[in-house]
Amino acid sequence: MLTKKKREGFKKLLTERLDALLTDANKTVSGMTDPVDNYPDPTDRATMESDRNFELRIRDRERKLIGKIKDALERIEDGSFGVCEECGEDISAQRLKARPVTTHCIDCKTNQEKDERVKGV
Ligand SMILES: [Zn+2]
Repeated sequence: MLTKKKREGFKKLLTERLDALLTDANKTVSGMTDPVDNYPDPTDRATMESDRNFELRIRDRERKLIGKIKDALERIEDGSFGVCEECGEDISAQRLKARPVTTHCIDCKTNQEKDERVKGV
């Protein structure tokens, strides 16, 4: 179980990360409103399309990460933060520091990844 002080530390870390992501996301959205007419050359337009796909992928990943951070913040509030969803053991502080949004201890995560490789997911 994490001490209150440690929980507060993770809460601060996650809130800061969330703020940074939301700021970035807003920037991406405003950058996407550029009219296509600025790129009359078809080659440029193609480049721009792939840039846009790239941005959408980034945003998809960001959106997922934002969701994960919000979940982690909720877990801090309800006291389940830092506990593995799979086996109920405490997740090591070292792992939480490296990846505060994680919901699985290193053992369960490793097993999960092994499973995914076997299934070819
Ligand atoms: Zn576990």
